[in-house]
Amino acid sequence: MSAVRDFEGLAALVTGGASGIGAAIATQLLARGARVAVLDRETKGAPDGVLALTADVTDDAAVREAVDAAAAEFGALHTVVSNAGIGAIGTVADNADDEWRRVMDINVLGMVRTARHALPHLRAAAVDRPGCVSITQTCSIAATAGLPQRALYSASKGAVLSLTLAMAADHVREGIRVNCVNPGTADTPWVGRLLDQSDDPAAERAALNARQPSGRLVSADEVAAAVLYLASPAAAAVTGTALAVDGGMQGLRLRPA
Ligand code: NAD
Repeated sequence: MSAVRDFEGLAALVTGGASGIGAAIATQLLARGARVAVLDRETKGAPDGVLALTADVTDDAAVREAVDAAAAEFGALHTVVSNAGIGAIGTVADNADDEWRRVMDINVLGMVRTARHALPHLRAAAVDRPGCVSITQTCSIAATAGLPQRALYSASKGAVLSLTLAMAADHVREGIRVNCVNPGTADTPWVGRLLDQSDDPAAERAALNARQPSGRLVSADEVAAAVLYLASPAAAAVTGTALAVDGGMQGLRLRPA
């Protein structure tokens, strides 16, 4: 079945689009008619058909250059998906200041830089395509769930949630919508790498599935579908929203029996 081409005529930029959730977003955007640029520090895994731009979101000048290059190539920029991020494990006692700065630099400031450099292009695009211009940020249920052993990661995603709401307020009258998705545990290379560190990855995966209310992880495609909705013209009235894609993990507030 062919996809609805509701992104026809729109130009998109996806950070962290060369793997996992970001690659799924880029693939779905292409299938729905968008022209797509992927900004990633390693673009090897970017889907065929995208404009691949190598940049690290910690490098302000490189982010500006990549964002401007995407807008120049496509003649406009309507859809920004700020998705690049990394994990961090431990309590507050486990990560030193340098590690806090490194993760915050990628997970929070990376999104600030992307938005800062995209905004001039988005403002121009909003005049031509009202309702179709948006920033969607990949947050996490960690922002509000109180997960153990995730102090730094949770704080970084809490900042992404606050940033989403503040940006939505700042830019609503400019016609730029700002939302985020809150994935639960999503089956991506990132989770694969974590499982591979255990003695028995298969048993660890089974235990992880069993801890989900639905009995399974969410897929990268399921998270991407939520991002595509938030960025689509169908969501023209949706801004300042955090959409959970977590198989019920947060909404159901289930506790072990
Ligand atoms: P992933 O590791 O498969 O992909 C992340 C991508 O981001 C990679 O292509 C990587 O190269 C890129 N990236 C990382 N640091 C970068 C930097 N400094 N500059 C440019 N690119 C950079 O991970 P994923 O699971 O697809 O995660 C994507 C997003 O989803 C992240 O923001 C993550 O916090 C969020 N998330 C993931 C899960 C999960 O369970 N997988 C759950 C909640 C939220």
